[in-house]
Amino acid sequence: MSYSDSLSKALDAAGACEGARIEAESGGRTYRGVLMPHHEFSSPDVLIIKIGSGYNVGVRMWPESKITVLDRPHEAHKKEDAVPVADGLPSISLIGTGGTIASYVDYRTGAVHPALSASDMVNAVPEIRDVANVSAKVLFSIFSENMNVEHWQKLAEAVAEEMNNGADAVIVPHGTDTMGYTAAALSFMLEGLTGPVVLVGAQRSSDRPSSDASSNLLAAARFCTAGHRAGVFVVMHDSLGDDSFAVHAGTRVRKMHTSRRDAFHSVNAPPVAHIDSSGTIEPHVPEKPAHGKVIVKNAMERNTVLLQYYPGMSPGLFDDIITRSKGIVISGSGLGHVNENMVPLIRKACDNGSVVVITSQCLSGSTNLNVYNTGRDMLSAGAISVGDMLPETAYVKLMWALANTRDVEEAKNLMKRPIRSDTGDRRTVDV
Ligand code: GLU
Repeated sequence: MSYSDSLSKALDAAGACEGARIEAESGGRTYRGVLMPHHEFSSPDVLIIKIGSGYNVGVRMWPESKITVLDRPHEAHKKEDAVPVADGLPSISLIGTGGTIASYVDYRTGAVHPALSASDMVNAVPEIRDVANVSAKVLFSIFSENMNVEHWQKLAEAVAEEMNNGADAVIVPHGTDTMGYTAAALSFMLEGLTGPVVLVGAQRSSDRPSSDASSNLLAAARFCTAGHRAGVFVVMHDSLGDDSFAVHAGTRVRKMHTSRRDAFHSVNAPPVAHIDSSGTIEPHVPEKPAHGKVIVKNAMERNTVLLQYYPGMSPGLFDDIITRSKGIVISGSGLGHVNENMVPLIRKACDNGSVVVITSQCLSGSTNLNVYNTGRDMLSAGAISVGDMLPETAYVKLMWALANTRDVEEAKNLMKRPIRSDTGDRRTVDV
């Protein structure tokens, strides 16, 4: 949405453009600060002004309101359309998908919207140009709770296309809520990666002074350009300050806090690396990049469910769901248990040719169905357990395994085997 006619005329008459320091008098109050871009979620009569404290305020303008320009924008504040290319630097393709990292606050409602273009994101981090040539595009502009399997499939294709066209690395800015799922999906869908694919997010939108968007993006770029291993990773804050960032394996990472900047943790495996604010990466284990083409295997069995076992779970309520699903992941209690009254349902699903995979809602530690009678009964009903794999990783992997193997036995074997560092055995086996 653009400015209303009357506000556009008032801005033109005052000679006010983005980046100018202005004074706006409205409703009996005076606001001074830098005029920010007007984005599609702002009301047509609202100016967004970055005031001295660093906060942005929305100022409702009326026909009698006044605008005065105090300072013209410096060249550096003007918006750039293209990031200049420097010889000899590695190339990173940035594929925007939305989320807080790409968001503005709507000053009418206070809600956050994913509206920032990919080049806006790059231009907001000038230091990134010292480490790489970055080209940017937007694939989606959504919050990650609205991501679904089709989005993962399109994203996998877009990442492979960038790498096959010569990108040394790909960065995917993404909403944090379901970033772990997407990271797991890309881990399985992309084969023969020639460089790192790094998902990165933010817990605070980039127009807030406390934003972690730029620092996470810069840390991701530093990891990408330091000759680090091929694979799918998540890079996010590792502390509350801006001094430490963690690189997590895409199949091992979970958002563990609703709002803290250091919300992401590797589960059952150490982070792949840590990056400090000066860009030092520990451990520094650069790998020779693989050669060849990245292959996309993005078929997914959609009749797959992820269920959390809870005391009082009624087998009757889940009969229909479990019978209709080809893949069932259950996040069980403790070592991976369910109430014994669920076991006949598990048996029925397995007898129907479905795969039932048991993980643990404890998250830390491994499942083991051999210790108690309940577990043994589940095994003899046909369920399999997958060591210390995260439930969401098991869900994504099962969808993928069922769609990329010839039969149920092959899918089960694939589930039990670590193929992208997804379960306890740290060996990585390519399929
Ligand atoms: N819920 C939104 C998302 O996951 C915003 C949260 C965020 O990006 O941190 O996209």
